[in-house]
Amino acid sequence: RIPVITIDGPTASGKGTIAHRVAEALGWAVLDSGALYRLTALAVQQQGVDPDDEIAVAQVAQGLDVAFQGDQVILSGIDVASLIRQESVGNLASKIAAYPPLRQALLDRQRAFRLAPGLVADGRDMGTVVFPDAPLKIFLEADVRARAERRCKQLKEKGFSANLMRLLEDMRERDERDRTRANAPLVAAPDAKTIDSSALSIDETVNVVLDHWSS
Ligand code: C5P
Repeated sequence: RIPVITIDGPTASGKGTIAHRVAEALGWAVLDSGALYRLTALAVQQQGVDPDDEIAVAQVAQGLDVAFQGDQVILSGIDVASLIRQESVGNLASKIAAYPPLRQALLDRQRAFRLAPGLVADGRDMGTVVFPDAPLKIFLEADVRARAERRCKQLKEKGFSANLMRLLEDMRERDERDRTRANAPLVAAPDAKTIDSSALSIDETVNVVLDHWSS
């Protein structure tokens, strides 16, 4: 079986950065599964689809024409990497992520990323639903304040306006929604290793993951 390291956790816990760094160290590919939910949300907005229509939203996901190339996320020929990072897109992604038909529609697309020599998959349900047989599962946490500060910095670096208090509030709401939704709630897999990165640097967190992998 081609190995997968799953990295699940709440929004802005640093999963994406850690996943990329671990993949780089191992020479593996990365799956940013959140990007698929964000891309679906963006396409729903762009196509004027009713975001409350679960079936229509799943159909949008099915028809997504996406390519990941380096830092680029190409949707129907256009690089939307920074567009999908906007909070409005993230909030809609979080809302539609509760739809069972959408999660089902994205399942095969996510599993297709499992290619030799290995995959680091980041998301909410990578270890619980998408790759339940993964040999290493990480649950990455950080307190909500640390996460809001990181997201604030990230948005400002990308030239978007950001307000820490509003981000904190949005993040609490999104956490609550991700954790309590009936379908695929954000929980650690029973066999996941939990890492709290609130007080760890990126390098330290990457090393904890690599230590788990080599032990
Ligand atoms: O990780 P990111 O913030 O980019 O994810 C956007 C939204 O997509 C999250 O709020 C979450 O609700 C949803 N998501 C999910 N399952 C995944 C990845 C993301 O439900 N595997």
